[in-house]
This record gives sequence, structure tokens and C-alpha cells, in this order.
Amino acid sequence: MKNPNLYAHFHAGFSPFLQRTAIETDTGQSYSFADIDGISARMANWLESLGLKTGDRVMVQVEKSVPALLFYLACLRCGMVYVPLNTAYQAAELAYFIENAEPAVFVGDPAREADLAPLMTRLGVRQFTTLAADGTGSLMDVALAQAPTHPVREVQANDLAAILYTSGTTGRSKGAQLTHSNLSSNAQTLHSYWDWQDGDVLVHALPIFHVHGLFVAVHCALLNASKMLWMGKFNPTQVLDWLPQATVFMGVPTLYVRLLQESGLTPQACEHMRLFVSGSAPLLTETFAEWQQRTGHTILERYGMSETAMLTSNPCRAQDGDRVGGTVGKPLPGVQVRCMDDQEVPCPVGEIGAIQVQGPNVFPGYWRMPEANAKEFTADGWFRTGDVGRFDAQGYLTIVGRSKDLIITGGYNVYPAEVESFINELDGVGESAVIGCPHHDFGEGVVAVVVARPGAQLDANQLIQSLKKQIAGFKVPKHLFVVDELPRNVMGKVQKNVLRQTYEKVFESR
Ligand code: AMP
Repeated sequence: MKNPNLYAHFHAGFSPFLQRTAIETDTGQSYSFADIDGISARMANWLESLGLKTGDRVMVQVEKSVPALLFYLACLRCGMVYVPLNTAYQAAELAYFIENAEPAVFVGDPAREADLAPLMTRLGVRQFTTLAADGTGSLMDVALAQAPTHPVREVQANDLAAILYTSGTTGRSKGAQLTHSNLSSNAQTLHSYWDWQDGDVLVHALPIFHVHGLFVAVHCALLNASKMLWMGKFNPTQVLDWLPQATVFMGVPTLYVRLLQESGLTPQACEHMRLFVSGSAPLLTETFAEWQQRTGHTILERYGMSETAMLTSNPCRAQDGDRVGGTVGKPLPGVQVRCMDDQEVPCPVGEIGAIQVQGPNVFPGYWRMPEANAKEFTADGWFRTGDVGRFDAQGYLTIVGRSKDLIITGGYNVYPAEVESFINELDGVGESAVIGCPHHDFGEGVVAVVVARPGAQLDANQLIQSLKKQIAGFKVPKHLFVVDELPRNVMGKVQKNVLRQTYEKVFESR
């Protein structure tokens, strides 16, 4: 493509089909590809009318809506850097992001205008505008006054398209810079590896401030000129209603668990479906197996992160191999993944090591954080993901956890995911999280937090006794707590930092 602007790739994909329906929403609205192109052009014209230039940041914290998606496309069109924020952040937390990214424009929720407007003035944001979930707010008013055509601006492949702030569970959140070529190469790889076909229809049920919903799902659908069935918030009944007209669904594991609770989830309901994709957090092998049994479909699990977009995937086409539960598949075409030991030497097959990656999808570094960048890339240019995993003899990768979640107890390494997999197999256990808590003698002591299956009664002591028969003593939790649910963020990830805080003093008081 002559112009490496990501929007130019989308436009090339959908321009032969401008009259097709691009998006149908759960509130009954419908947009054609011509609408997508026209409304994003109006928004781009408005951005340029403010005198902004390529590379200026545009920060957005709004509820999911089609206009919010079109505004992302508008930023791409004019070469501005889109910076979406999780809607959970409060006004008091926004100051950090604004001071760090220095956006020229901030789009916020009209319901929070009274809090946000003074903050914008204080921090010198040039333009503050609003957009609500139903499309009302000042953004659409100013945009609709603009012309519906706009030339897609020429960018360099390495110009920034977006900055995604990491969830920042340890220390300050970092802005992962993603270039036009990072995103377009990954979109094209997924489009081809997942075998997108004419007639594919995507159920879009994820938030759009995160790599999964914004990049993976939207980019594939736009490149393919596919219709998206668009829901503001995940609603399992609505998903089931849509499945007979859809072919692709993408979800985090908790969405699959919620769908399994629906009696309407049957092989007939999924007859029209081609592909179910899961990622962003580990999919329990139990959920993988139950889904197969209930629907006749095998979930495709993939692995990626904000800094790199997608890295590995289970195969889609039969000729590429089987989808193996409990693994995240093989490196995607063009992506290199290695597991390294403590001496920075590649681990033999089956051995656990730190996952490092390289490829056209891997970001150039964190925004304005030279020290983090020096630490998180190796001398030979590989990015240290912070995840720990192992390859099997067939080349499938299994994620064992985040390296910061690794527990070192009395000098021994304990991988939480391994202990969790044993706990999850015990009778009556729904799910579990294993953490390390400060211990006067061992440095850290292993602690498990467990949720029972509906209707089951769990006895912490009995569970510990059962584990003692199966795993080495140093891996057995010294304390096991039964709770109603695990704390999760909106992407379904268990918040181990929250658990570590809750149980921080457990070895002091006992
Ligand atoms: P984020 O940047 O919010 O997308 O978080 C990325 C992190 O999510 C990765 O570094 C992994 O720790 C985790 N992750 C993503 N996909 C998977 C997966 N399929 N299985 C296990 N962990 C995953």
C-alpha cells in the first residue's frame, strides 16, 4: 500500500462494498460502510479545523458506542494519535494520563462534564468535548457541521497510531506506543491466519478501550468488509439471539463462562458459527472442554498484549493443526517468540522461561519512558513480555503466569498457574488464584484463594490435605481461603495485586 496509514488499509478492504451494512447495534441503529467513511471524514475535518497536526494526541474516555469507534477512525485518518482510556478511571486519576500524554483534545462523558471541564482548563488541554453512549454530546454537533469527505493523510509506517496505557498493577501505568505498521501488519496476519471469509459476521461484545475489542475485533472486521453486530455492554441473551446470523465471536474467558450459564447455548444455536476466539486472560481447560461439549465448537485461544497486539494463536484451519486447550497456540506468521532462562539462554522444550518476542507487530517502546524501554528490551532487540511460559514439542506455548506473580518461597520457585491447575481439579472447586504473601521465614508463603462451584461446600483443610498428596510440599498453600468470587478487571483478568493486598498480613496474624 502506498500510504501506510492504517485507515487506508481498511478503506481498501471495504470501499468496493460501501452500501453494505457495516454495523447493526443492540439499540436498533444501522450504519453502512459509506456512513463509516462519511462520519469519520466529518470528524477528521473537525479535528483538522482545530489546527492540530500529525502526531498530536487525542485522548478519549467515553462509553462504548459507534460514534466513539468512528472517532478512532477519524484520528487515524488525520494521523493523530488515539489514546483511549478505561472508563473506570475517576477524574482524580486522569491528571496523570493527561500530564503524561499531553493531549491536544480530550473527549469525555457529558455526565462528568462538571468534574472534567475544570481539570482540562487546569492542565491546558486545548479542546474538551463530550460524547455519550447514545451519541449525544458536543462532539457529534461539531462533527456533523463538517464536510463528509476527507483525504486520508499520508503517514510514515513508523508514525504512531495509538497509545494504550497498560493497566499499571505495579507502579505507574505506561503508555504503549503502537505504530500504523504495528497495527496493520497484525491485522493482516490475523485476517489471513483466522481465515476471514466473504460473508463473515462478527458479534462485537468487548469494550473498545482495549487491544482485544478495539484492534483485534474491529480491524479484522473492517479489513474484511464484514458486518459487526454491536452491543454496548455484554449481554449473554443478546449474544444468543445474534448467533444464528453471525459467524465469529471474540470474548474474554469470563464471557464464555457467562454464556455457558445460558440454557439456550446449544449446538443448534451455534450452527451458523465459524469461529469462537478467546484471549486476554487464561481460558480454563474446563471451560474449553465444556464449550466443546455444549456447542460442538472448539474455542481458538490466542495470546497477546497491549504492547505487541497478537503474538500466538491456536490454529484456525484444520491443515494448520489442532486447537489445544490450555495452550495459546504457536507464534503467528512473522512473529518470533522465545522462552529464556535466568542466564538469558533459550530454554529446552518443556522448560519454563521468560517469554520474549520480536516482530513487525511489536511496539517501539513506552511513551516518554526511556528507563523502562532500556530495561524491557534485550540488547538484541527482543521485548520482555513479563509473561512466563513453556513450549511443547509440537511448538505450542503454554502461559504459566506473569513473572511478577511468580512466588519465591524459601528459595524455591512456585508458578501460580501450576498450583491453580491442581486446585481447580479438586472436587467442588470452581476456580482459584494462588499468590505469594510476605512470610517472615520463607520470604513469601503460598496462599490460595478459591471459589466453590455453585452448590458445593468446600473445606479449606481438606483441600490442603488433598494437594499435599499431589504436589511438592513447598508448592502447597500454607493458607487457603474460600471466597464468593475473585476480583477481576473489566477484561476478566484476576487482579492478583488486589488479592496480595487483601492477604498481605496473613502470615503476621497467624
Ligand atoms: P493486556 O495488555 O491488558 O492485553 O494484557 C496482556 C496480558 O494478558 C499478557 O501479558 C498476558 O499476561 C495476559 N494474556 C493475554 N492473553 C492471554 C491468554 N490467552 N492466556 C493467558 N494470559 C493471557
